[in-house]
Amino acid sequence: MMLSMMPTELLANISEVTRRIRAAEVAAGRPKNSVSLLAVSKTKPAELIRIAHQNGQIAFGENYAQEMQEKALLLADLPIEWHFIGPLQSNKTAVIATCCSWVHSIDRLKIARRLSEQRPPDKHPLNVLIQVNISREPSKSGVLPEALPDLAYQVDTLPGISLRGLMAIPAPASSAEDPRAPFKALRELKDSLGLDRPNFDTLSMGMSADLEAAIAEGANLVRIGTDIFGARYN
Ligand SMILES: *Cc1c(COP(=O)(O)O)cnc(C)c1O
Repeated sequence: MMLSMMPTELLANISEVTRRIRAAEVAAGRPKNSVSLLAVSKTKPAELIRIAHQNGQIAFGENYAQEMQEKALLLADLPIEWHFIGPLQSNKTAVIATCCSWVHSIDRLKIARRLSEQRPPDKHPLNVLIQVNISREPSKSGVLPEALPDLAYQVDTLPGISLRGLMAIPAPASSAEDPRAPFKALRELKDSLGLDRPNFDTLSMGMSADLEAAIAEGANLVRIGTDIFGARYN
């Protein structure tokens, strides 16, 4: 198979993203290695994931359930940690509950319930994050901040899943806006919900273009696609 990218380029990209993460930790006065890298491999071939995994990248993020399932089958010989980060549909929850270690995009109870029920009992509870529509964009995924405490409270009761934190995809900041503001807002929500939840420790925010701003505001899981695997054309 023709690869869309040379392995040397892929590994150089991962090194460069890792260097940026470590530099952002230092700049923010945060402990070394306090931020983890999720490599977002949507639309990219399984063979690139294999190469990245062989070189130490453990966690991969996918947006489409069927694509993730196909890749998980092709890569079943590797102990990959799969994260589902895309919009969730009821008819795809069984695949996700089976393949994944993490889901970042919980935004309604019905889906959380299905994931909990469908999580195989021999696996650890599925780690989940609630996605927050932090920029209050109409018709975007995520709960509005004011609906978050109630949803978190209900998700807490589900035995097959473990509520670990929050995720957001802020709207692109206009030049007049502070690019850190939405990340700060998400961190404040996470801090307040975390007060009586000992395992509520994960803040998934920051992508290729804004990982530094997200880490400055407390991100500990950044989701990087383009700067690792190159631009997506489909
Ligand atoms: C595609 C995607 C990313 C990666 O974005 P890049 O800008 O390519 O780094 C991160 N998070 C989510 C939810 C995505 O869908």
